[in-house]
Amino acid sequence: MSLHPSDKRLDEYAALLIRIGLGLRPGMTLVLSCPVDCAPFARKCAAAAYDAGCREVVMSWRDDALSRMKFLHADDAIFDTTAEWQKQFFNGYAEQGAAYLAIAASDPMNLHGVDPDRIQRSTRAGGRDLRPFYDAQMGNRFPWCIASVPIPSWAKKVFPDLPEEEAMDALWQAIFDAVRVNGRGDAVSAWQEHLARLERLTDTLNTLRFARLHYTNSLGTDFTVALPEGHIWQSGADRTADGHVFVANMPTEEIFTAPDRNSGNGTLVASMPLVHDGNVIRGIRFTVRDGKITEACADEGEEVLRAAIAVDEGASYFGELALVPTDSPVSRQGILFFQTLFDENAACHIAFGEAYPCLENAARMTREERIAHGLNDSITHVDFMIGTPDMHITGITQDGKEIPVFRNGNFAL
Ligand code: ZN
Ligand code: ZN
Repeated sequence: MSLHPSDKRLDEYAALLIRIGLGLRPGMTLVLSCPVDCAPFARKCAAAAYDAGCREVVMSWRDDALSRMKFLHADDAIFDTTAEWQKQFFNGYAEQGAAYLAIAASDPMNLHGVDPDRIQRSTRAGGRDLRPFYDAQMGNRFPWCIASVPIPSWAKKVFPDLPEEEAMDALWQAIFDAVRVNGRGDAVSAWQEHLARLERLTDTLNTLRFARLHYTNSLGTDFTVALPEGHIWQSGADRTADGHVFVANMPTEEIFTAPDRNSGNGTLVASMPLVHDGNVIRGIRFTVRDGKITEACADEGEEVLRAAIAVDEGASYFGELALVPTDSPVSRQGILFFQTLFDENAACHIAFGEAYPCLENAARMTREERIAHGLNDSITHVDFMIGTPDMHITGITQDGKEIPVFRNGNFAL
């Protein structure tokens, strides 16, 4: 942390994550996952949590250097297993309904050159052994929030021309701008206003119940996609079953739903590079027929792209449509963060792979029923940006009426 530890914005940010991100209630336990490099900020989050009446803050420390070492040198067999204590830790706290705050800060290139098979097997083992945790998280059975703070390796990737200290300060400033923290103490009220605005737009889209969307811009995107019957647009705040409101991603600017997996047709051209498993893919162009990516080209990283959409059957179909205006604070900065948490809030995006259950009654449906309703199924979910300042999106209603949703990169609703 190169900012002065007494910088007011640090306390304001920590308090924002605890109060708006998690909506932490007195008596709750907080599981805090954080890189060791960011310990000073973790302490600020813990202080804000105890301030809010937290029962206990439990730490889960991580480290880029140690995880890279493990992927390079550990015994090959360990990538198919998860330690017993880890299962008990994550699954146990999830079952208790403990709040979960993840500080995501990583060198985007940390796993560059690591055997991709080890990464995939380890992801698969985690997905299997920590299933109770992930199911509870995706089912909003506990409040959770993912946020970020700078570390030097990441800051240097974002600002390669600046010396390390200055790069750190520049990334702090970019993050504070993105999460509406300015040191004047009004971040919480700014977020309440922001979330209310997202909710109004979401309500409008849910009332319109479009049958299809049509995207166009001068980069060459010309894409039509259908929305499943009973689809719901979602944004900003989430709720647990007992009405506990939390914000899973900070920042968040998107309003999103799931497409009908078999319906997309046309051309999609990415407007930003995609950072995937330590690789940068530039100049992505997809040709799509009946929902499936039939042609995947890129100016750089084409092989990585082709491998990413071939992970399983569902990886070459789409699972998310997200609307992000170019007047959002992340978008206005024009910075490539090399981290999805920020970059996906810079532009309209689409994800290939797993669909979010953005469907009426999805919580009561089996996986098979969701697929039958048009939701995509995959072990992967990768967002890529398509939004530009000249993007138009038109909604087509059930009775064929055309309504502007986006004009010139911003909401027209
Ligand atoms: Zn998204
Ligand atoms: Zn996504």
